[in-house]
Parts: sequence; C-alpha cells; structure tokens
Amino acid sequence: MYRTHTCGELRSTDLDKQVTLAGWVQTIRKFGSITFIDLRDRYGITQLLFNEQLNTILDANPLGREFVLQISGKVSERSSKNVNIPTGEIEVLVSDLKVLNRSAVPPFTIQDDTDGGDDLRMKYRFLDLRRNAVKKNIELRYAVNRAARNYLHLHNFIDIETPFLIKSTPEGARDFVVPSRMNPGEFYALPQSPQTFKQLLMVSGYDRYYQVVKCFRDEDLRADRQPEFTQIDCEMAFVEQEDILQMFEGMVKFIFKEVKGIDYSETVKRITWEESMWTYGNDKPDIRFDMKLGILKSISKPSETIIPEGAFKIFDDAELVVGIAAKACADYTRKQLDELTDWVKRPQIGMTGLIYCKYNADGTLKSSVDKFFDESKLKEWAIKTNAQPGDVIFILAGREERTLKAISSLRLYMGERLGLRKAEEFKLLWVTDFPLFEYDDENNRWVARHHPFTSPKPEQVQTMINNDPAISNANEYLQHPYASIKANAYDMVLNGNEIGGGSIRIFQRDLQEKMFAALGMSKQEAQHKFGFLLGAFEYGAPPHGGIAFGFDRLCAILGGSESIRDFIAFPKNNTGRDVMIDAPSTIDLKQLEELQIKIDLKAG
Ligand code: ASP
Repeated sequence: MYRTHTCGELRSTDLDKQVTLAGWVQTIRKFGSITFIDLRDRYGITQLLFNEQLNTILDANPLGREFVLQISGKVSERSSKNVNIPTGEIEVLVSDLKVLNRSAVPPFTIQDDTDGGDDLRMKYRFLDLRRNAVKKNIELRYAVNRAARNYLHLHNFIDIETPFLIKSTPEGARDFVVPSRMNPGEFYALPQSPQTFKQLLMVSGYDRYYQVVKCFRDEDLRADRQPEFTQIDCEMAFVEQEDILQMFEGMVKFIFKEVKGIDYSETVKRITWEESMWTYGNDKPDIRFDMKLGILKSISKPSETIIPEGAFKIFDDAELVVGIAAKACADYTRKQLDELTDWVKRPQIGMTGLIYCKYNADGTLKSSVDKFFDESKLKEWAIKTNAQPGDVIFILAGREERTLKAISSLRLYMGERLGLRKAEEFKLLWVTDFPLFEYDDENNRWVARHHPFTSPKPEQVQTMINNDPAISNANEYLQHPYASIKANAYDMVLNGNEIGGGSIRIFQRDLQEKMFAALGMSKQEAQHKFGFLLGAFEYGAPPHGGIAFGFDRLCAILGGSESIRDFIAFPKNNTGRDVMIDAPSTIDLKQLEELQIKIDLKAG
C-alpha cells in the first residue's frame, strides 16, 4: 500500500503511530540543520520534519516543489501548532523517504493566491486543479450533481443516455457538426440539447427521464458561456405546468439543503414574464432587493403615463420614461451623480443622459429638471417609484426596449453598489407565461422564443392557427396577433440568473405542423428536419413537459462565483479554445481524404 493515511487525516489522537503518507511537496523550509516539508494531497497538508540525523536522506535526495513523495515516520506533537489547518497539531518525524517522481519547476505556485495569470493556469489546468480554490469548486460540482441525482432517483426518474451524433435540434444557436466518413458528404450535428430525444422517450413510456448531459452550442462566447456545457435535463409525461414547477422547485431546494445546508422553506415566488419586464425591466430579475420600476410614461401602457405632454422635450420624444428609487442616496454629491450619468452613457447601456430627483430627508424634492416640473409633479414620481425621504430617484427616457434594458442594468448596478445583492442570500423565482414567438427582424420571420416544441396557452391555440404569420411592416410586428400569444413556458431564476427553463410541449402532430408552418418552415422542410418526431406523435404521444437546468451556472452561483469556468475541470477560453490540449486544430490530410473533404477556406 502506498499510504496508511491521507495528508488531511492525522490528528493529535494519532500521536506515536507509525504512518506512511504519499503526496506532493508544497513547500520546503530549511532551518539550520532541520527541514520542514509540507506534503499535500487532495485531502490536506501534513507537515513533515526531517531532523538533524534524517537530513542526510534529503542531502542524498534533493527535492523540489511538486515532487511526489512517499514517506514513513512517527506522528509527533508539533512545537508550534498551526490552528489554521486540521492537521496543525501534529507533524510526521520522517524515517523513510522515497521519491516516487520528480517535478519540473511548476509555471506558477500551487496555492490559493497563485501568481499564475488566467492563460497560464488554463494552459497548465492539470496543475491549476491541484489548487485548493479550484478543488473546492470541483467538489461542490460533484455535490450538486449527487444531490440532483439522489432527488430525481427518489422521485422515480431514470437516467437514460441519448446520442451525441444526431441531427440538428433547434435551441437557437448554431450547431457543431461532425462529418461522417461512412456517409461521405453527410454530417451529424452535436446536440444543442437532448430535446427531441427526451420527448421521444415520453412517447416510449419512460414517463420520468433525466440526464446530466453535455450540450453543444456554437455561439459567439459572450461573457461566461462555454461551447460545451452541462444540463440537468428532465422530462415528465402526464403533467401540467404546475406539476413541473413543484417537482423542480423541490429539486433545487433539496440541492440547497444538501450542498449548502440551507432550508429554503418558503414557496418559490412566481411572476409572469410581462409583470417581470414591467417591474424589473428584464425576465430574470434579482429579487434579493426591491427597487422596482416606476413607469412615468409608456407607449405600451398609456394608462400608466403621468407625465404631461409639452412640459419637457426629452420626455415628449421618449417612448418610455421610467425611474427607480435608490435608498438613502439623497446625499449623493454632484461628482457621484456625474459618474452615474457617465455610466448610463457608456455604449453598453446606450442612454443619452440620466435625470435625478432627490427626495430630501426633510421631505422637499429637488431634481435636475426643476425648470420643467414643479414639486407636486415630483411627488407623483416619488409615489410611482416608491421613494422615501432620503432616497434619490433616477430616471431614464428613450426608446422603450432600450430604456427598459438600461433601467434594469442601472437597478442591478445600484443594487450592487448599495450592497443589496448579498452573496450568501439565495432567492428563487419562477418566471412564467413567456411569449411564444419572437420577431426576427433580420430575416423577417417569427422564431420560437423557447423552442418550436413549446405549446401555446390552450386559449391561444386558435390565434396561432387562424392567423397568417406574414408581416407586411416589420416595424409593426407588435400589432401582429402572434406577438401576444403566450407559451406554457417557464424559467427558474436564482439571484438574477436564469438557472433553468422548460415548457409543456406540443404533443399532437397537427399542432406541431402548424407550429413549424408559423415559423416559416415548409411542409417538406419540417418533414426533412423533424419527420421522426412528427411520425412518433402519431403513435400515442402522451401529454408531456420538462425543464433543463444549467448545471455549470447553478454550481457557480452556489459557489459564490460569477464565472462558470471556475466550476468546469477543463473549460475553454473565450475564443472557444482549449489552450491546454490546443484544440481546435488542423487534422491530417489523410483524415480529410477519408472523409472526402477538401478544405477551401474563404479569405476573410
Ligand atoms: N431543451 C431546453 C433547453 O435546452 C429545455 C427544455 O425545454 O426542457 O433550453
């Protein structure tokens, strides 16, 4: 046996035991004629002592960082104890040393505060993974995985693998494709999700399916996306939306309890998509704090408008005027207000300016637009934004979509600045009733907001069937009956992040065909792409629905990190490269010949 104990195991109760440990050299400290070595493995660190007599062993075996050692010796009490580590009361007085392997000098130090930059750490990810900080994340990932599986198993779900070499599944991204040698000129697509397979499994009668599964989407990697990522993918038959919400709310609570020891006893709040957009400005609101929007003017909601026409040109020209009240910020200085104005003017936010109204502690109101509005008007704004004395109201005005987006970003930014987005607080939310369609103005057609297998609300099925999808004037798409059709679709949101999403599916062939037609697909195209599913729907498809959770993201949030990469053992960088193995890369001419593929890269 290589070891009797791990490097994290020995305590003062083990004094005088003869032990054998194996691990990596973390540090070597020489003090005159004695040497201390910290030996590290996955479980911890144990101090080794080579005293005067034993130092000769070291002289014969010069060691360096990350050497792999096997040592034997006696557990002894440490003269200066280290209360910061569990093994800090003991050390091992080494009598035997075997160097199992040597190590080159590592390119960065393997410790919590490493000197390695991101690129270097990714190139040597196998070393980075030795660091505690990364190990902790990988362990948390496993704990989440285990908890999810345990919960699903308890509820009769079975894990069924689905293929990776498939035909395109439309989740709204580009496919990764794989050429087929045996079928020259033909390609597989890697699954963007197992969507169609899990639906087929419902037709097959496996009424509770799950899989912790890799999904592949060839997207431009905006912040914190990975081309291959993991979902906890689930599907159930004979269910309504309510069954799904309850089942998976239960799963996330179970994970909270198992992984973080949190009892999330309250029922998860629910909000419709529409309400979410008008209350928080986005469809994945962070509800750890309030700061709800106050609509002062809106072309979509004229009944909410309280701004008189003709008072102020900027408001007259705006489609939307909207405010939020930042708690206890009425004492913001000119400089602070200017900084915030610059913040909303940044291209990512894209506003032309920021209007403020201070609700002073003495109850008076003072705004940057005093010239145009008297105090009684400002008071109305305070009521709409739920501002209290001591607060400042920030107001944005402009095109509806952009302004809503901007105020939502400002709300999050202020929430952060005011310390309202607490890392250790977890707030779940269901967002329901998403629009069924979205308008794609580039290609002048409707696209499925979730995916084409999502069912419309039953009372709106006829609206979908009876209306021609064609749009004469792209600017007026909001007036088209399709714009108001809502889906049986839901997202689970955690602290402002979408962690899961799903829907109740269409399970009748004719309705599915209507859906494909609504999305501008010809009968032939629908048959070519999804004939297998349409065919299956003819053989007793049960009503069904499901959900998929973004496993990497869930882990990152539970681990208190912004970045999913920290929770993936071997992630890709933001150009989709694995810099450690250097992929993607060119392939041999012979491989191309076998595939009967000739590369002719277009310039530019
Ligand atoms: N396949 C969907 C997705 O990846 C999830 C679902 O509808 O179950 O978003």
